[in-house]
Amino acid sequence: MKKTNPKVAASSHQRNSSNKYVYAFGKQTEGNSSMRELLGGKGANLAEMASIGLPVPPGFTISTEVCNYFYSQNEKYPKTLERDVEEAVRQIEEQLGKKFGATENPLLVSVRSGARDSMPGMMDTILNLGLNDDTVEGLAAVSGNSRFAWDCYRRFIQMYGDVVLGIQPENEEEEDPFHVVLEKMKARLGVESDSALTTENLQDLVRRYKTLINKKTGRSFPQDVMEQLWGAIGAVFKSWKNPRATIYRQQYDIPAEWGTAVNVQAMVFGNLGESSATGVAFTRDPANGEKAFYGEYLVNAQGEDVVAGVRTPHPISHMEQELPENFRDLEKVRTKLERHFKDMQDFEFTIEDGRLFILQTRNGKRTGLAAVRIAVEMQRERLMSQKTALLKIPAESIDSLLVPVFDAKALKAASLIAHGLPAGPGAATGRIAFTATAAEQEIKRGNKVVLCRTETSPDDLKGMLHSQGILTSRGGVSSHAALVARQLGKVCVCGAGDIKINYERKTLTAGKIVLNEGDYISIDGTTGAIYKGMIESADSEVKRVLDGGMKPEKSYTYEIFQTVMAWSDKYRRLKIRTNADTPSMARQAVAFGAEGIGLCRTEHMFFEGNRIDLMRQMILAVDEVERRAALKKLLPFQKKDFVGLFKAMEGRPVTIRLLDPPLHEFLPHDDVVRRQLAEKLGVPLEFVIERIKALHEENPMLGCRGCRLGILHPEITEMQTRAIFEAAAQVMKGKKKIKVIPEIMIPLVGFKAELVDQLNVVHRVAREVMDKRGVKITYQVGTMIEVPRAAITADEIAEVADFFSFGTNDLTQTTLGLSRDDMGLFYDEYQKKEIYNQNPFARIDQSGVGKLMRFAASNGREVKATLKLGICGEHAGDPSSIDFCHSLGLDYVSCSPPRVPIARLAAAQAALRQD
Ligand code: ADP
Ligand code: MG
Ligand code: MG
Repeated sequence: MKKTNPKVAASSHQRNSSNKYVYAFGKQTEGNSSMRELLGGKGANLAEMASIGLPVPPGFTISTEVCNYFYSQNEKYPKTLERDVEEAVRQIEEQLGKKFGATENPLLVSVRSGARDSMPGMMDTILNLGLNDDTVEGLAAVSGNSRFAWDCYRRFIQMYGDVVLGIQPENEEEEDPFHVVLEKMKARLGVESDSALTTENLQDLVRRYKTLINKKTGRSFPQDVMEQLWGAIGAVFKSWKNPRATIYRQQYDIPAEWGTAVNVQAMVFGNLGESSATGVAFTRDPANGEKAFYGEYLVNAQGEDVVAGVRTPHPISHMEQELPENFRDLEKVRTKLERHFKDMQDFEFTIEDGRLFILQTRNGKRTGLAAVRIAVEMQRERLMSQKTALLKIPAESIDSLLVPVFDAKALKAASLIAHGLPAGPGAATGRIAFTATAAEQEIKRGNKVVLCRTETSPDDLKGMLHSQGILTSRGGVSSHAALVARQLGKVCVCGAGDIKINYERKTLTAGKIVLNEGDYISIDGTTGAIYKGMIESADSEVKRVLDGGMKPEKSYTYEIFQTVMAWSDKYRRLKIRTNADTPSMARQAVAFGAEGIGLCRTEHMFFEGNRIDLMRQMILAVDEVERRAALKKLLPFQKKDFVGLFKAMEGRPVTIRLLDPPLHEFLPHDDVVRRQLAEKLGVPLEFVIERIKALHEENPMLGCRGCRLGILHPEITEMQTRAIFEAAAQVMKGKKKIKVIPEIMIPLVGFKAELVDQLNVVHRVAREVMDKRGVKITYQVGTMIEVPRAAITADEIAEVADFFSFGTNDLTQTTLGLSRDDMGLFYDEYQKKEIYNQNPFARIDQSGVGKLMRFAASNGREVKATLKLGICGEHAGDPSSIDFCHSLGLDYVSCSPPRVPIARLAAAQAALRQD
């Protein structure tokens, strides 16, 4: 090994002991696609393409290590770099028989950035480098086209002036200085398009550009081509830390240490005339995944012209007529790229006077639908294995196969009136209803409804249940509306600050547009867009098949959905349960593949019909006698609900959580409803007001809720237990003899003694019912782990619990000491300062909450090896949180019905990644 200065060797840029900084590609190629870290994505793939014989113009890549050296050594380069770059340029010259800086047949190059992950448009590319007052004449001579040569020269000076010399607009109002010069000239000549400029015009333009540079920098435009090259290389390295790139890096979690590589590559010219062109293409359609050639190109154009929108490019299929031979070559490249890279490719090409060159390739970005379809079809084509195919699909993409969609044509004609936050994906259209009651009435008339509220509360649940979608003007993505929408799989746009809802006048206003109750409105919960009027929307095919409204063999989308689900089930170890409170939710979840219910929130059952009144009567009761009387009336309803749920689940396990929320959530807040309640209960209004006051809590989230309710009023626990076991007995003894395995879950336990208290009630009532009905019901009693004390004392609690279910919503609230409903005020700032890496309510905070979970899981299982472990917080539908749950060894995750398919895939991916 070579001896190095210890001080230098210790610093990170010296990882590379061989001092190799420059990697050639072309006739001889030193890199390959596995070297992304060192060569960047673009450089690694250029090397790979060159080595499999694709027509790549020769060049070389300066590694990312030089970028790190550059930053750690005060913007200097390693000593050997200059020599290596000169040598690499010489190699290009030899291959092409051109010479860099020579008047005769000059070599021109592009200088391109390229980080490990592509950062579209973040850093800069310089084309046509190597042109000066002499070489431009050489290029004119060898191409026989002096207009072309001067067109290249003016483009080069402009790019160089901008990127390397920093001649840019000084503020947002100012226009690009080069652009100003160009536009002035065109105005003077009375021409519209650049292509109308003659050679003489372009020569004049070059002179004017040079003058501009002189004026702005006090120096003249560099004529020495080596000086040009080093200027460009430095500019690319510097662009790694320009503000644009820095923001992008933070956004996408790209560490500064990765650095960028620099690619120097011989130019090929798509602007040499009518048999030249430049374009971009995808090997398959990135929008719908179809195996169809997709892309666009421009004849007689260079570089970014295609994306810059100067002229309208042609679709790639058009090339079959215009440049048939090149089209055939391009088709061959398309097949070869996919066979080799084994994924859909997004590639750039240039045709120089009839000769095709490939300038870049990478795995193409795609929509959710395309991701699923491409993975399935590539597996069928044997381009990838099942496991690879599964890992290639971002789990969330499954959603785009399930949500309702607007008709694409209708959408084009629609008039957008405002935007809100996308909170429940899919498309909904219907008549505006401003209250739950109005919604119900409209629905009874057979109309579709979008419920529009400033904010929603539990009182609105009924209306939300039957609406096509929910729109609110206040509240963020963790507001009540958003939460419930996700739970129910409803389309939802929330927090649309630009619309005003006036309940009194019954109007919805967006700018100058005023809509009335009953008018049509359409919302897109995937994008947050709000439209005036009706836009046709339809259930997804997958949903129609699952609902029985469409034959499976009629839907290709269903087929690929089903394929991915079947593969997922083969590899996953986590069971997937669902959070469902009603038979219809349960059935939907089962259709999506749920294997049980992990959380049935019994309180949701109390909102329907006139139950809320009985519930309120129970809450307002002054003593046990009154309370029991109200509970007795609630019992048959609750029992009926459980019967429905057990039947819908057909023998699968059902976890039922006993009453959990603070009681005030059930009580009426406005005077009218209070008065009505007093009348219904036959008590004075003052009594109602007094009782509500007496039950007031300063901080209900930490007040009389969860198991505290049942400990204070055991008759509530009794009633609920009785309802569960009566229902179980009935279903088990019914015609179909469905087996029922109830799992009763006690919420908000922090002390073993709390659980023991409630266990006694549950066991006693269970015994009573079983004796009375003469059946034996296998059941379990367990607890939520949702306060830190429960996690910390998991070993004690496990002694008396059959299972733990991590209630990560509350566990996050209580661990962070943070109310989910009140984070709006500071959340943006926290994100900006990167204090929270992610919204802790969307993704498990692994280093905080996650540690408690790990601790509880392992201590619980140490005491009781058979302890069943699950999670029922909203996190259970988040792929990265599912990955974490897999690593904890949980038995199941329980998410809302519409997320079940995503969870199945995410669980399989976790198993494939970790096992
Ligand atoms: P980005 O990373 O922004 O895509 P690129 O480095 O790919 O930037 O360069 C942008 C465009 O410049 C390419 O799409 C290609 O059209 C053109 N280009 C780059 N290098 C060359 C070259 N050697 N010959 C011809 N065109 C080139
Ligand atoms: Mg590119
Ligand atoms: Mg809770």
